[in-house]
Amino acid sequence: MFDIVIEGGQVLDGTGSPARRADVGIAGGDITAVGDLRSADAARRINAAGLHVAPGFIDTHTHTEGVLLGDPQHAMGLRQGITAEIFGLDGLSYAPLSRENYLLNRRYLAGLLGWPPEDLDTTTVAAFRRAYHRTVSINTAYLAAHGAIRLEALGFRDAPLVGDPLDHARRLVRDSIEDGAVGISSGLNYYPNAWADTAELIALADAVHDAGSIHVIELRQANPERAFAGGGLAEAMEVGRRSGARIHIAHHRTQPWSAGQAEELLAEAEKAKAEGVDVTFDIYPYPTGSSYPLSYVPAWAHEGGPDGLLARLEDPADRARIVEHMDTTHHESRPWNPLTSVVFSHVPRQPELDGARLADIAADRGITAGAALSDLLLENELELSYVIAAPASTGRWRQTGRDAIALLARDDYMVCSDITPVGSVCHPRSFGAYPRFLGRLRRAFGVLSLEAMVARMTDVPARRFGLTGRGRLAPGFRADVVVFDAERVIDTATYDDPRQHPAGIPFVLVNGQIAVDDERPTGVLAGEAVP
Ligand SMILES: [Zn+2]
Repeated sequence: MFDIVIEGGQVLDGTGSPARRADVGIAGGDITAVGDLRSADAARRINAAGLHVAPGFIDTHTHTEGVLLGDPQHAMGLRQGITAEIFGLDGLSYAPLSRENYLLNRRYLAGLLGWPPEDLDTTTVAAFRRAYHRTVSINTAYLAAHGAIRLEALGFRDAPLVGDPLDHARRLVRDSIEDGAVGISSGLNYYPNAWADTAELIALADAVHDAGSIHVIELRQANPERAFAGGGLAEAMEVGRRSGARIHIAHHRTQPWSAGQAEELLAEAEKAKAEGVDVTFDIYPYPTGSSYPLSYVPAWAHEGGPDGLLARLEDPADRARIVEHMDTTHHESRPWNPLTSVVFSHVPRQPELDGARLADIAADRGITAGAALSDLLLENELELSYVIAAPASTGRWRQTGRDAIALLARDDYMVCSDITPVGSVCHPRSFGAYPRFLGRLRRAFGVLSLEAMVARMTDVPARRFGLTGRGRLAPGFRADVVVFDAERVIDTATYDDPRQHPAGIPFVLVNGQIAVDDERPTGVLAGEAVP
């Protein structure tokens, strides 16, 4: 007797093996049989004729931990077929943090992560993870955030960790992994992370290596003078080389200004791999990104956290220095996310500016882009988020899509969404990343078989991040399952109109319970804190 039988579909087991026609039997939250189950008893049968049945997608990079407890249904992820999300990315999250540091960091990160419950227990990774167990629709895993660890060790201070604070931080890395974190994450364009030097990163990665875990790195553009070889992939590879830790590079892809240069993008990694560095990557299928704009503010202005930053934005002399830094460092002549490409996705005190370009706001106010951003940060008490505008050239856009498929064809690549859920005009990846790869780009560019693409959404990330019992559709694995129409599946979210669910993904099961039934979220909250 099965709880559910999914019958008549083409089964993709997640390993890349050819699809085959089979029925899938589920009991007690597990997959218990794959084969001919036409005559088996089942409380519920799902007809998957003409559809594909795959393990639920495992998303290696999201920013949903702040909003998930307030919106536990989480349709934006679930409707993409995502059944497990790894959060705590870019070194920006909430555990381990003392009560006082949690309340501070909650304010500092509100533009990116929203407002999690004020009484959330973040004092240990174990306590933090418990809050998401059987209370939300998806499974979740956590990367202990370098930023949180740094706050506990040194506070919001502009200095690399050395001596006792560094020992403290290394202890927190070990404790966090023991408490169930699947690794740690560093985001080297964001504070307090970006105050680290390469030696600090190596020391933390060394603790990660001792614990047999993984260090996820968002590559450095900020404070390059503190970095080995000026930051970027060279620094991250040096961390891998010197620590021996497994390294995973966040959303590594070409952008409009580097379209067609996928090979150059990986040159440093190829060198390091030849020397034995164990490195993998993830990618989302869009030409530009999204974040919160505190990373545009110079390093020194973040000292003391949100209160220090607000005081400096209010002080005329400090404000002038901040504006000058932003207008010169992030000038439109620079390729990396210039201020002129910023489109606000979330301006809570002036919602009429959601979707507006910073350059237009600056022109309306008759001031520079840096000055306008300073004013908006102050007016919104730092709570802003933005999307980098889609490229004007459709040719470059198309090339970044072609590059993304070529990169994903490598066996050291996997898929992520980088869901940034905050804002009425959020990045379309939050609703469309998986179906965009699975439908639109796969059909447009070929290159990658359906089987290989699904493997990079399921078994590959499960093994890399140690999510045992997940990522495969086979007896003995947990029943996280997605049923989709390979010919019809497509993203519908756009830069202009991002909050649109995809088509062609009728059923999603999490731990053997139906979370999406004929494209409708059921309200079931069966997600577990994993692994
Ligand atoms: Zn991110």
